[in-house]
Amino acid sequence: MRIEGLLLDVDGVLYQGDAALPGAPEALHRLRAARMPFRLITNTTRMPKAALLEKLARFGLDVAENELVTTAQIARAVISRDGAKPYLLVHENLKVDCPPEAEKPDSVLLGDAADGFTFERLNKAFRILIEGGRFYALARNRYFRTATGLELDAGPFVAALEYASGVEAHVLGKPDPNFFHAAADSAGLTPATTLMVGDDVEADIEGAVRTGFQGAQVRTGKFRAADEARAHRAGARVYSSIIEVVDEALA
Ligand SMILES: [Mg+2]
Repeated sequence: MRIEGLLLDVDGVLYQGDAALPGAPEALHRLRAARMPFRLITNTTRMPKAALLEKLARFGLDVAENELVTTAQIARAVISRDGAKPYLLVHENLKVDCPPEAEKPDSVLLGDAADGFTFERLNKAFRILIEGGRFYALARNRYFRTATGLELDAGPFVAALEYASGVEAHVLGKPDPNFFHAAADSAGLTPATTLMVGDDVEADIEGAVRTGFQGAQVRTGKFRAADEARAHRAGARVYSSIIEVVDEALA
């Protein structure tokens, strides 16, 4: 199938821990040289967009502000559209990108707050939800890989609050179709001819394929052997790394 552009997951595809994955900076250069449009699309919510761009630049990944699409951007648009007044259960660093926190919140916006997931904050969120508050989650990824091993992401905390309150979260990040569409639209891309590249079989691959995109699972980042068959079942192709994906996209 023809490929006219790419959506690239970031953590686990372009970098891992404290370094770019081998060949990732060159892969971006090759896409630019070939004028193949792409967007970076991430569920990462531990740092603001500006800091993520700086981090990528440090790794030799030169990305423009408009080439990176984050869930906090989408949250601002959705929460403003809904007229909701959120309590922010997000990482301190991310607050700069989020909608302002309301004095009398009627909803909860949850991201990967890491050490900020204290009992007190989770319980405050629970009390808002059990009173009928709306529940927005930047993502519900289960875990991701850091330099020291796998680490809990936002998903387990979303599940805990859903379980206690009976309120289902509206997930704004991948695999929500709106997020894939927003990223593709911003690059003038159409789903059928756009390849979503990710290490997360659930959020990146199954989500994108369900939304009408092509899927490319990479064997880097959080990839585990059992994901291979699952990616194939979803109708995606499996590649050793971003290098191989770009080879094929430009072939
Ligand atoms: Mg990833």
